[in-house]
Amino acid sequence: MSFKTITIIGFGLIGSSLARQFKAKNLCEKIVCADVSQDVCDQVKLLGLADEVYTDLARGCKEADLVVICVPVGAYKAVGQAISSSLKSGAIVTDVGSVKFKAIKDLQPFIPADVSFVPSHPIAGTEKSGPEHGFGHLFEGRWFIVTPIDDGRDALAVKRVCDLWDACGANVEIMTPKHHDKILGITSHLPHLIAFSIVGTATDLEDDIKGEVIKYSAGGFRDFTRIAAGDPTMWRDIFLNNKYAMLEMIQRFNEDLTELQKAIRQEDGDKLYDLFLRTSQIRKGVVQAKQDDVPTKGS
Ligand code: NAP
Repeated sequence: MSFKTITIIGFGLIGSSLARQFKAKNLCEKIVCADVSQDVCDQVKLLGLADEVYTDLARGCKEADLVVICVPVGAYKAVGQAISSSLKSGAIVTDVGSVKFKAIKDLQPFIPADVSFVPSHPIAGTEKSGPEHGFGHLFEGRWFIVTPIDDGRDALAVKRVCDLWDACGANVEIMTPKHHDKILGITSHLPHLIAFSIVGTATDLEDDIKGEVIKYSAGGFRDFTRIAAGDPTMWRDIFLNNKYAMLEMIQRFNEDLTELQKAIRQEDGDKLYDLFLRTSQIRKGVVQAKQDDVPTKGS
C-alpha cells in the first residue's frame, strides 16, 4: 500500500480515473473526494468512488498523506488558498495539470514548508468530463510526466509519487516544467487549438454547406470534432496558462502553413510530397510506440 489516505481535489475525468485505479490496485487505505461541486459529490457517492466526500476542500485534506489536485489549472490559486492551512505536516501534494510552469507558480506559495510538492501530468485523457466518464485503465501504458521543484527537500516525495504512477500502470518520465510546457505545446496544445479553429470555421460556413460538413465528416473532419470536444474551461485555462510556449508554436505553425500555401500556389508537388512522406513516417513511429489508440471505457 503506497499511502494511507489519498484526497483527490476535483473528481472529474482524471480524478475519478485515478480513484478507480488506486482502489483496483490497492494503493491506499482510504480515498477522499473534495470537489466544490455538490453535483459531482453526489455523483461520486452514487458511484461509490470514495470513502468520504466533501465540498469543503480544507476539511477534505485534513487527514491526507497525499493530495492529488485534479482541477483545471486556472483554479489552482483558489485551491491553494483553500487547503494551505489544513495540510498535514509531512504530507505530499501532487497534481495532474496539463501546464506545469505557471501552475507551479500559482500553487507553490500555498504549500507549507513541512509539505512536499511534486507536480505531475499524465499524457492520457479523453474529450469527456465528469466522474461518470472516468476509467482506471486510462493510465496503463501511457506516460506520466513528473516535473520536480528543484529545492532539494523533495527527493523522497518525488520517488513516492513516481512509484505511485508506476503502480497505476504508467511509464514515468522526469523533466523540467519549462521543457514539459514546450513539448506539450506542440504535441497536445497546438493540435487542439488547430482543431478548435477548424471546427469553428466549419460552423461559420453558409447554412447550405454546413449540413454537408457533418454528412461527409468521415473525410477527416470528424477526427477534429473529437479533439475539439474537450472541456471548454480546461482548454481555456491551458492556453492562458501556457501562453508563451503557445505563442511561439502558433508563430512557427503560421510560417509553415504559409510555406504550404506557397507550394500549392506554385504547384510545387515535390515540396508537398516530401513533407507528406516525412509526416507518414512520423505516424508509423506513433503506432510503433503504441500511443495511437484513442482510450475509451471499454478498451
Ligand atoms: P473535469 O472532468 O472537468 O473535472 C474537473 C473537476 O474539478 C470538476 O468536477 C470540477 O467541478 C472540479 N473543480 C473545478 N474547480 C474547482 C475548484 N476550485 N475546487 C474544487 N474542484 C473544482 O476535468 P479533467 O478532464 O478531469 O481535468 C482535470 C485536470 O486534469 C486539468 O488540470 C487538466 O488540465 C488535467 N488533464 C486533463 C486531461 C484530459 O484529457 N481531460 C488529460 C491530462 C490532464 P465542476 O464540474 O463543477 O466545474
